[in-house]
Amino acid sequence: MTRPLDADARRSVEPVICYSVETLPHPDMALYDKARSTLTKTDEVVVPPREAKCFTVPEGHFFRIVSVEGSQVGDLNLHNVDDVTERFYSGKTRALHGTHITTGERMWSGFPHLRPMATVTYDTLGWYGIDPYGGSVHDVIGTRCDPYTHALLSDGGQYHHCCHSNLIRALADHLGVSRADAEPLVHDVLNVFMCTGFTRDTGQYFMKASPVRPGDYIEFFAEIPLLGNLSACPGGDCSSTHSSDTASCYPLLVEVFAPDPEVMSEWVPPPRNAYNGSHGD
Ligand SMILES: [Zn+2]
Repeated sequence: MTRPLDADARRSVEPVICYSVETLPHPDMALYDKARSTLTKTDEVVVPPREAKCFTVPEGHFFRIVSVEGSQVGDLNLHNVDDVTERFYSGKTRALHGTHITTGERMWSGFPHLRPMATVTYDTLGWYGIDPYGGSVHDVIGTRCDPYTHALLSDGGQYHHCCHSNLIRALADHLGVSRADAEPLVHDVLNVFMCTGFTRDTGQYFMKASPVRPGDYIEFFAEIPLLGNLSACPGGDCSSTHSSDTASCYPLLVEVFAPDPEVMSEWVPPPRNAYNGSHGD
């Protein structure tokens, strides 16, 4: 190929942030902080290693994903309880908030809804920031480990406990539908506690040992009634390998909390997206 004479000039143009989030509807973090001090635990679900479990969270309640026993990452799907086709949109969340999310940022649903499903209200790993490799935690860049990619990379290898398959089994059991009917509802995840980034030299997706330790948690406020589905990834802390039974894996704990209704009396759920849906004439 021929390098143009003005190549350096073209490459040195300064980037512009695609989506200025100043005009996004902002969560009332002061209200959520106030509500956090009034929480009463109402439910909990233990997700076994290399499996997934569903859980529900009423709108206006909180939930935590907690590290227990050992360093473990989780793959999280979210649906609207009342319409499971409204689900988490990892790609738009990434475009709005960046490659990883933390306190004050939100998990957005797909079109035609595009509204906040959950807001991160506390993250004990918030101190991690972006490390010297460009890595950070809770990413929306990886998709989920899956048996199809594994088969491509391993000359037809069959492994049945990738997060994708775990999420399918859990959702099928919860909804009382076949695995074939559940599969199209499973979607790109929030990689909870996973430490990932892109290499600076080749731009490749990388993972490294998660900094999560037992007792760490990420906490969310449910903006709409949620059906969560969480897989304890077969990669364990994702320090070396996944899509196999090789890594040490641990359970994850999901806890659901109700705030004092008095404190939340002025809170209103997010409306449907304001676009009129006509797509022109
Ligand atoms: Zn996984």
